[in-house]
Amino acid sequence: MSTRDLSALLAEGVKGRRVLVRSDLNVPLQDGAVADDARIRASLPTLSRLATAGARVIVVSHLGRPGGERRPELSLAPVAQALGEALGRKVAFCHDCIGPEAEAAVAGLGEGDVLLLENLRFHAGETRNDPGFARALASLADDYVNDAFGTAHRAHASTAGVVPLLARAAAGDLLASELEHLEIVRKPKRPFVCLLGGAKVSDKLAALETLAARADVLCIGGAMAYTFLRAQGHATGASLVEPDRLEAARQILAAAEGSGRRILLPVDHVVAERPAPGPSRTVREIPDGWLGVDIGPETARAYAAACAAASTLFWNGPMGIFEIEAFAVGTRAVAEAVAESPARSVVGGGDSLAAVRAAGVGDRITHLSTGGGAALDYLQGIELPGLVALGRSA
Ligand code: ADP
Ligand code: MG
Repeated sequence: MSTRDLSALLAEGVKGRRVLVRSDLNVPLQDGAVADDARIRASLPTLSRLATAGARVIVVSHLGRPGGERRPELSLAPVAQALGEALGRKVAFCHDCIGPEAEAAVAGLGEGDVLLLENLRFHAGETRNDPGFARALASLADDYVNDAFGTAHRAHASTAGVVPLLARAAAGDLLASELEHLEIVRKPKRPFVCLLGGAKVSDKLAALETLAARADVLCIGGAMAYTFLRAQGHATGASLVEPDRLEAARQILAAAEGSGRRILLPVDHVVAERPAPGPSRTVREIPDGWLGVDIGPETARAYAAACAAASTLFWNGPMGIFEIEAFAVGTRAVAEAVAESPARSVVGGGDSLAAVRAAGVGDRITHLSTGGGAALDYLQGIELPGLVALGRSA
């Protein structure tokens, strides 16, 4: 295996070669149809260039978390149909990603043909990076292209194990574009403003520590804000607080003290009795029995002002339980503020992207990253196994 980018692979020639492409076609499905085709569209340039150059294109992806079992509702079959329409080429589909059926489907491919194989995670060997499973996948192809940035932080068979088993390996156009755009936040122009939200401190503790140390202003929202507020001694009612992260939160706050860097926490809150549609109100101190479900209007204005003054912006994680319309106001305000800002802006994370789309502001954001966890790891300088396999280091 030796590594290059897609243009170099195409220049060397792929005509007639069987090329295994690890795409990220992990799209939301609704009633058996593709509900949002953003990831399909993002995958097209690489697939189209390979097919046009006469490769036999074998596409693999995961969909959801079937846990190593065949789960019909997580089949990629509807995605094959949508991919074919978007690509303007027929996309064949095979009901398994390894074994005799897959081998026969690959043998039937002509130059420029595209085949999508069934959900990799129907086999437990995928996420376990099982060598036998990797060999079975590798036996289908000659060369390898990784275009799945969203899973590059996982050492799975299709992102890592398979790579050294194939003759040539390349980074696809989407993967390359992600890395290029993430340089905006790896080498930020200042002021560098970060907005971090979502469910848990523990999910993103390392990212919080890194961004708190790098950002000129770090705005914290979502459920993770309440652990910080509790750490400062504020009442948090029934909000999601992680008691075993209070000390970490204290340390992050203490490290920012006197450093010239600022950490902003919510000063007002939308609270509810349950994390479900129902009565809610806006408060400055959270009453007993109530939980914070969104940042309040004053907080949203403060975060928007920070965005307006930024030269570089990074946002990951909604500011509240945005799936519920009444608790999505703060998240929408932040989405609009990121879009309004003259800063170069990067937004990453599945839920954050959904919020950006719901606000209709995607086209005013410099880069929408297809990888949440992968982007956070990459920004911290953590080696991503999928990139290491391609011979790239952080
Ligand atoms: P992303 O997918 O963009 O990385 P996360 O998955 O980390 O974002 O976080 C999104 C989740 O955080 C959403 O399901 C949202 O409901 C939840 N969340 C945000 N704020 C709160 C809150 N105050 N209480 C409970 N959950 C919250
Ligand atoms: Mg999420």
